[in-house]
Amino acid sequence: MIGYRVTKAQLESLIEAESPGWLQKAALRTAGFRQKNCYEESSTIWSDVKAVFMCLQGDCKCAYCERKLESIDFGKIEQDVEHFRPKGRIRAWRLPKALKELGIKATAVPDEDRGYFLLPYHPFNYSAACKPCNTLLKKDYFPIAGEYDLTGDDPAQLHVKERPLLVCPVGDFDDAPEDLIRFYGVSPQAVAQGGYDRERALVTIEFFKLDDEAKRKNLLRERAIVIIALYPQLEKLADGATGGAKVEAQQLVDGFTSPKSAHTNCARSFSDLFRKNRAEAKAVCDRAFQLIISIS
Ligand SMILES: [Zn+2]
Repeated sequence: MIGYRVTKAQLESLIEAESPGWLQKAALRTAGFRQKNCYEESSTIWSDVKAVFMCLQGDCKCAYCERKLESIDFGKIEQDVEHFRPKGRIRAWRLPKALKELGIKATAVPDEDRGYFLLPYHPFNYSAACKPCNTLLKKDYFPIAGEYDLTGDDPAQLHVKERPLLVCPVGDFDDAPEDLIRFYGVSPQAVAQGGYDRERALVTIEFFKLDDEAKRKNLLRERAIVIIALYPQLEKLADGATGGAKVEAQQLVDGFTSPKSAHTNCARSFSDLFRKNRAEAKAVCDRAFQLIISIS
């Protein structure tokens, strides 16, 4: 997971360019929900701006698992517009025992038959996510450590009050995901040694099953392929490649670590490890190779 930094004004400008008049329609709908005091409508218009988020997120990557999905024309069908805060209701996410044992606590969900009814059309409540991350895993869950406020209409303000246990990938008000989660080999890990930053990193990893070798084996396999492809290029550069070989190796390293590539966070973490400890990076690469062999 990496962050896609964008201001509200920048995001609104992209939305207006993609679907002129959408923001006005969205504001009207939100005013209607405010009057009714709940979210209720017979049709939705957020799919009209799905392409904005697909483009923003590294040219069609899932916001959470960083899998690269098909580009705009054919990719819309395999991406959902994900609502970070659930619009219609909030279900209680069962905190796994292992996280409970670390002392992590999630606030009890409010006993209300509604969700964040003022946020179904807030651009900062959107990302584009793959079907497994959104439809199967995210659902209507939204674990937090602070205090729920379903009447909130500003994600930046809510962020402070609610202390979400999931990391928001799009916007300019949350921590950058890479400051919270980095990779060791194919496995995501919390950066912070304690506190809220560590808790939300661990919850995000567990929530989206980002380190689940059984349930998301192809996700881990893809990361292993990135490491195996990256290692020889890093080696060439470290060994003083010159001329065309150096240019080619650098282009490949830049490509794998670009926000537009799949599993950027994993690739960047591995590159950092290589620079710090080449022998350890070699051992990690060997394990990535073994992973490919073992699950092929
Ligand atoms: Zn995903």
